[in-house]
Amino acid sequence: MVHKQLFINNEYVDATSNETLSIYSPHDESLVEEGIQIASLRDVDTAVAAARAAFQGEWSQWSPRQRSTAMLKFADLLEAHAKELAPWETKSVGQLPAVAEFIYPWTVETFRYFAGWTDKLPGESWTDDSTGLYHLVQYDPVGVCAAIGAWNASAMFFALKVAPALATGCTVVFKASEKSPIGILQIGALVKEAGFPPGVVNIVTGDGKVGAALASHMDVDKVTFTGSTFAGLKVQELALKSNMKRVTLELGGKSPSLVFPDADLKNALEKSMWVLTNSGQGCIHATRIFVHEDIADTFIAGMKERFEQKTVGAPTDSKTEMGPVADRAQFERVMSFIDAGKQEAQLVTGGNRVGEKGCYIQPTIFLNPKDDARIYREEIFGPVVTIRTFKTEEEAIKLANDTSFGLSSCIYTASVPRALRIAKQLKVGGVHINNAHQTHNRVPFGGAKKSGLGSEGGRLGLMAYLEAKTISINMTL
Ligand code: NDP
Repeated sequence: MVHKQLFINNEYVDATSNETLSIYSPHDESLVEEGIQIASLRDVDTAVAAARAAFQGEWSQWSPRQRSTAMLKFADLLEAHAKELAPWETKSVGQLPAVAEFIYPWTVETFRYFAGWTDKLPGESWTDDSTGLYHLVQYDPVGVCAAIGAWNASAMFFALKVAPALATGCTVVFKASEKSPIGILQIGALVKEAGFPPGVVNIVTGDGKVGAALASHMDVDKVTFTGSTFAGLKVQELALKSNMKRVTLELGGKSPSLVFPDADLKNALEKSMWVLTNSGQGCIHATRIFVHEDIADTFIAGMKERFEQKTVGAPTDSKTEMGPVADRAQFERVMSFIDAGKQEAQLVTGGNRVGEKGCYIQPTIFLNPKDDARIYREEIFGPVVTIRTFKTEEEAIKLANDTSFGLSSCIYTASVPRALRIAKQLKVGGVHINNAHQTHNRVPFGGAKKSGLGSEGGRLGLMAYLEAKTISINMTL
């Protein structure tokens, strides 16, 4: 049975709106599922009220050990059901099984990782002899959290937001993307089976309107968002104008990759190919490649060959190395960038759709885009990269930083001093030396500039669900 209702207070319940979502496969645009219920504003209120009641009720009495036990049980359940859940991403957004099956274990491990934090939440104390004061700093859970996710790694976003929220004693209303809500909706049953009290985790479905209702809700204490910079700015504005709820934003990217002549070229080429993972739909992908002019010809030829050898096809075909983009809207969007790019840069390879039906696009490389080209400035979120050459390290850094985004970056060089020197100067949330971006749940992940606000993962990701409270005691009495 496929759950299509909202998940509130540990039960699947009908939405009060009559609206539903239908999901179509990007492989052949056939119907995957219909009748997925869309939350009304009233349903959003109900979910938030459930989360508030849980936050103030039984959940607040749970010990760290109890929270951790339920989180570990939930992780075990997710692990046991991963093989049923992952295919929803393949059906809904065309994710290759290999990618979907990587994301689920990652999700499971993230719940296990944060489960280990429940009894290690920090506190501080300070004595101040000059004033006779003794200060205690305690960190309280921020409260009811709204979590809004993108579609390109739905379960990962669920984990990065819900796991630290639960570890710290918060409660959550999660909204998945309208492009891939089915897998996340099925997870509700596992939340209940893991033994969380009703209202601790709630899942609502719908489009941006539902997200906006959560971001502007007066009884939500924090909103954590993964999505485009465009929508992220709206979320921040709504949060600010409503009740100044706390905000974490994980937004878009247009990350640079710098390839120096002393780099291990085979490694640089192989890691640069990760940009086609998930059909190029990754916020972290290094889509602006800058290569030193001395090795440019060899590097570009190597990339061209690899792009042309990529087998594009049905996600369920075992020979496929790259599937379709997520849906018709995403296909049209990426193709419009490619069409514009043909006027703004030299097309090295690709540039067309693949096949007559479905949302398949050739891996595409553009060389030397004009400085103001859309393909060079805007996030495409498809299998498209630009390559430019540079002469000096200073020029490479300037080119890398010349963007409004600041999510990730890659540096390929044999010189560790050079890599560290450059890392210091890049305005980004992450630097990957001789590697493509590899997200790990133990370290902070976030963006500089318009790529986001705050971090997820690691201790910093946990602290984002806590608020400091200073208690000062007059010790002179
Ligand atoms: P969107 O910004 O379109 O949507 C993200 C989520 O926000 C969806 O659930 C969406 O609902 C919802 N939403 C849309 N408008 C609003 C609004 N006004 N208020 C509140 N919520 C809203 O992004 P995509 O889903 O298309 O995802 C791709 C984007 O996400 C890319 O820019 C990518 O770089 C970024 N991303 C960032 C990551 C990071 O960690 N930095 C990781 C992965 C992706 P719905 O879609 O249902 O309409």
